[in-house]
Amino acid sequence: MPVLVVATSNPGKLQEMQAYLTDPALDWELMLKPAELEIEETGATFAENACLKASQVAQAMGKWAIADDSGLSVDALDGAPGLYSSRYGKSDRDRIERLLSELGDEPNRQAQFVCVVAIARPDGTIVLQTEGICRGEILDAPRGNGGFGYDPVFYVPAHQMTFAEMPPELKHAISHRGLAFQALLPQLKQL
Ligand code: IMP
Repeated sequence: MPVLVVATSNPGKLQEMQAYLTDPALDWELMLKPAELEIEETGATFAENACLKASQVAQAMGKWAIADDSGLSVDALDGAPGLYSSRYGKSDRDRIERLLSELGDEPNRQAQFVCVVAIARPDGTIVLQTEGICRGEILDAPRGNGGFGYDPVFYVPAHQMTFAEMPPELKHAISHRGLAFQALLPQLKQL
């Protein structure tokens, strides 16, 4: 069974990625990236960062690797926090507080989560890359206890819930990461 190294150290993302990749039709053995192997996200886009993480982890370990890069882009903030979503504050709570204060009483609350997933061969060549986008609105105050990151303030009108209020299976079905993985899995099965 070939080994696929999951190139993330974010526990919330890891949990979601493991859920997507635990498919009986996928005969990959999942392995976590060693914590000491840190890859700097120097890309100018989500796609560049996903590819560089997958590629560098694959080369460092001599194994297949999968990585994602994702973030929240708020329309009224010209796409911020975007690529800086994880560096927007010291904790999830700080990041949410900063987002809500930057938005203030701006009436346009439209936003989207974006996720790009990339898979690299052991020599670092990218063989698969998919993207998922989920549109929603930023609430004035957090709601719900599930998920991670900005989930409590990201409201999806079609389901009348924030990501943090959704059962995990629903978030997996409709989220940016879920959509990127749904596009990836059939191709991964062919590899
Ligand atoms: P990175 O992909 O590790 O650079 O981090 C992306 C950051 O975007 C995370 O640390 C979160 O702050 C945020 N983010 C990405 N996906 C989600 C999600 O599904 N829910 C909430 N926040 C997310």
